[in-house]
Amino acid sequence: MPYTITDSCISCQRCLSGCPTNAIQTDGSSFWIDANLCNQCEGSHGVAQCWSVCPTNEGCVPLFTGTAAVNLTAETSTDYWNHWFASYSRMVARLKGIEQSSYWRQWFDTYSHTLQTVRTQTGTSAPLMP
Ligand code: SF4
Ligand code: SF4
Repeated sequence: MPYTITDSCISCQRCLSGCPTNAIQTDGSSFWIDANLCNQCEGSHGVAQCWSVCPTNEGCVPLFTGTAAVNLTAETSTDYWNHWFASYSRMVARLKGIEQSSYWRQWFDTYSHTLQTVRTQTGTSAPLMP
């Protein structure tokens, strides 16, 4: 599935380093995707990195053509559910990406260790928070 960068891009540059094929192009102010370099992240990531790392909702979106065309900006979107599912899919993709990172594994391990220490010191096995 090809991707495109829209007018909602805020030029944060996060997709530049995220793209494994250097397909993201910029002239310093505008960003676009070189279709000849983009391989939809196949073989390197489970989800398109430009889409996944983009902090905006509509700055980088899947591009459909022909009769399956979707609106690229929230302002022009007339299909509530297309927009809803696009936002939902983005959130799931981001959560899956976070899940794979060592950050949350370290966070969980640290939290578990701290919780166990407190339980030992207080002699309780009850959870600290509801
Ligand atoms: S889909 Fe992947 S390869 Fe294509 S522009 Fe986005 S990050 Fe780069
Ligand atoms: S990550 Fe999104 S907002 Fe940032 S430069 Fe890329 S397309 Fe634009």
